[in-house]
Amino acid sequence: MRITENKIDEIRNAADIVDIVGGYVQLRKRGKNFIGLCPFHQEKTPSFTVSDDKQIYHCFGCGNGGNVFKFLMEFKNISFVESVEEIAAHLGIKIQTEESTGDQQNELEVFYDINVIAARFFLEHLTKSAEAEEAREYLKHRKIKPQTQRSFGIGFAPFGWDNFLNHAKQNKIDLVKAKQLGLIDTNERGEYYDKFRARIIFPIFSPNGRVIAFGGRVLQNADNVAKYLNSPESQIYFKRKSLYGLYHSKDEIRKLDRAILVEGYMDLVSLYQAGVKNVVASSGTSLTDEQIQLLSRFTKNIFVLFDSDSAGQKAALRSIELLLKQNFEVKVITLPKGEDPDSFINKFGKEQFDEEVTSAVNFLEYQTSQFELQGMFEDPAEMTKAIRELVRTLALVNDELKRNLLMKTISKKFNLREKLIESELNAALLQNKTKVETQASKQFFRSEESAAESKLTLPVVHVNQNPNEKELLRLLFSGDEKIIGYIFDNVAVESFVNTNYMKLAELVHDGWNEEKFSPADLVEKIESPELKNFVMKLSLNDEAISKKWDDLAFNGKVEKDTFEHAVETVRSFQIFQIEDEIKRNNKIISESKDELLHIELLQRNRELQDDRKAMLNLKANN
Ligand SMILES: [Zn+2]
Repeated sequence: MRITENKIDEIRNAADIVDIVGGYVQLRKRGKNFIGLCPFHQEKTPSFTVSDDKQIYHCFGCGNGGNVFKFLMEFKNISFVESVEEIAAHLGIKIQTEESTGDQQNELEVFYDINVIAARFFLEHLTKSAEAEEAREYLKHRKIKPQTQRSFGIGFAPFGWDNFLNHAKQNKIDLVKAKQLGLIDTNERGEYYDKFRARIIFPIFSPNGRVIAFGGRVLQNADNVAKYLNSPESQIYFKRKSLYGLYHSKDEIRKLDRAILVEGYMDLVSLYQAGVKNVVASSGTSLTDEQIQLLSRFTKNIFVLFDSDSAGQKAALRSIELLLKQNFEVKVITLPKGEDPDSFINKFGKEQFDEEVTSAVNFLEYQTSQFELQGMFEDPAEMTKAIRELVRTLALVNDELKRNLLMKTISKKFNLREKLIESELNAALLQNKTKVETQASKQFFRSEESAAESKLTLPVVHVNQNPNEKELLRLLFSGDEKIIGYIFDNVAVESFVNTNYMKLAELVHDGWNEEKFSPADLVEKIESPELKNFVMKLSLNDEAISKKWDDLAFNGKVEKDTFEHAVETVRSFQIFQIEDEIKRNNKIISESKDELLHIELLQRNRELQDDRKAMLNLKANN
C-alpha cells in the first residue's frame, strides 16, 4: 500500500511526539525538552531526549533518533507504513490509498516483473524438464522436500546458452533491462546469452516478498566454474542491504525476539524446513553493517552459526565485531567438528539443534575457546596477546554495565587482577574513541583537506571555514520561520565552506522553498546516517548535555534560539567572511607582482574595512 506524501505530512504535522513517545516512555520535563530512560539501550541516568518544539527525539547514549514515525518503527519493530497508519488511527485521520504510482515506481515494477517471469521459468524447469533430473536428485539427496522447494521458489537454470533468452523474447521482455538484472549478458560480438546455466537457482526476496535477485549454485563442483553465481546489484537489488531468508523468517524472528545467522542458502533452507524458522543468511557477501541494521528492525538478539572450518570461524569473529558495534546481544553456536547446519539438522533433528542453541556461549567465551584451541594459553607471551584481543572485543560493547560484568568473567577465567584488565580495557576504549573521532572529523572537514591538497597545484589562497558555520546550521534546523528567513536573506548557501554543512544548508533551503522546514520534516530527508546523527546532536545537544545550562534556560535567563541570537550569529559570520577576504587579498598582494591587481585589491580592502567597522558598531549597539 502507498500513502500519499501529502497525507504523511498531514499526519506528521498533527502528531505530537511528546504525546506518542510519552505513551511508551516515562518522560519528564527538563528545560525545553523532555527526558527519560532510553527504551533502546539499558541506562540508569536518562539520556533519551524528546524535543517538543522540534518534534524529534534523540538518545545521547546509543544514538537512536528521528521523528515520530521513526520512534514507532524502532520501538515496535514495524514498517514505516505501519507506523504512519498507527499514528493516523491514534489521531483519527483517515488514509485513502493511492492506486497509481509515479513513473519511477512503474519502471521498478518492470524489473520486478522480469524477475518474476525468470523465477517461474527456473521453477518450471526444475519440476518438469528431463535435463533437471540431476538437480532434482541433488535436492533429494540434500533432503529438501518439494514443498520447501516451492516455498523458497527454488528452480533450475538449464544447460545451454539461450534457453532463458528465447523465453524472454517470447515474453517480450526488455532485453536491456534483463541484462541489467544479470539474467543475460552480451558476448564480444554483442550477442545476448544466458548468464545462469546448469545451476540450482535460489531466488532472493525482499523483506516484502518480491524477487529482487538470484543466487545460482553449480551442480558439479569444477575448478574453472564459480560455485556460486549471484545477480549483480541493480535498481532493485542492493547486495549490502539484503538478507537471504528474511522474508520467510521475519515473523518468527519478531515472535521469538531472536535470530540465527547462518552462511549459506542450503543451511537456511534446511533449518527452516526442520522448523527452525528464525534464521537468516548473509549469502553472497560477508555480513555488512547495512544488513545488521535491517535485522535490528526485528530483533537485537542474534545467534551466530557458521561452519566449523577455519574460514567459517574467521567470518564468525568478524561478524561478531560488527554486531557488537550495533549493540546486538551476541551468542555463538558451535557445532561438532565436521558438521555444518545443513548436515547437523538432517542427522540429528530439531530437538538436538535446539539444545545446541540453548548451550550457545557468549562471544567472549567463544573467542576464548578459539584461542585455547590455537594453544595460545600455553605460552605467556601468546597469552598476553590473547587477553589483549579479548579486551579489544569487549571494548566494542557500548553498555557499561554489561561490559563490566564481562570484564569480571575474563579476570576470573584467567585468574587476573581486575585492575589489570580494567587498564587494558580503558586503553582499548580510548583507542576506539579516537578512531571514531578521527573518522568523524575527516567526514566533516573534508573541505579543508581538499583545500590543502589543491595548494600543491594552485598558488591560490583558500577560503577558511567560518567558525560560525556550525551555529548557523544549528539555527537553520530550529524550525523557526523568522530565524530561517533572516539567515537565508543574509547568508548564501554557497558561502558555507564545509561541504557537509553546505549540503545540509541546501536541504533546509529546499525545504524552506517548499514551506517544509520543521526539523521533523528535514531530518527525514537526510540520507546519510552520519549526517543525520550529526544534525540530531547539533539540534539537541547543548540543551540536554549540561544540567546547568538547562536550569538557566528553564529560569528564562538564557534563551538560545532567539531572533536576536540569530542576528548576532549572522553578523559574526559576515565579519569573519570580511576578515578572511582581507587576509586573502593581503596574501595575494604579497605573492603576486601584478601592480594593477595590487591597486584593485587595496581598494577592495578599504571597502571591506569600512564594512567591518559598520558591522562591529552594530554589534556593539546591540
Ligand atoms: Zn539509547
